[in-house]
Amino acid sequence: MEEISAHALKGCFDSSEDEIWIPDLRHIIWPNRDFLGWIHPSGHLGYVVLVSPQDGGLTGVVMRRLLRSSARVRLDMCCLCHHVHRLDGTAMFTVTEKGSQGRRTIANVVCKNLDCSLRLRNLVWTSV
Ligand SMILES: [Zn+2]
Repeated sequence: MEEISAHALKGCFDSSEDEIWIPDLRHIIWPNRDFLGWIHPSGHLGYVVLVSPQDGGLTGVVMRRLLRSSARVRLDMCCLCHHVHRLDGTAMFTVTEKGSQGRRTIANVVCKNLDCSLRLRNLVWTSV
């Protein structure tokens, strides 16, 4: 993807600007990204920004993140990049469906740091 400014990132979310935390963008290697994903420093929110292949428009999604930990050895597969993680490599991300007044949510198991683009390019070291 091409570089996106912090101002443009903040503008692509439905949520109010106060709820959106933007990371330091100076260290991002944009051509290595199919989408931009990052985690709020508190760890409870994940952000994803997608670029439309048709018109280049940006769409931002804020998700709640629930880390999944277990004492048992367990394999989990990310539903986006299909990377298989052993222990604590994934998290459950949920989004409330629009118009449902908070009654319906969509949940998926995804790489816990939303670094799927880097995993697809084998740019993240992993033990599995
Ligand atoms: Zn992934």
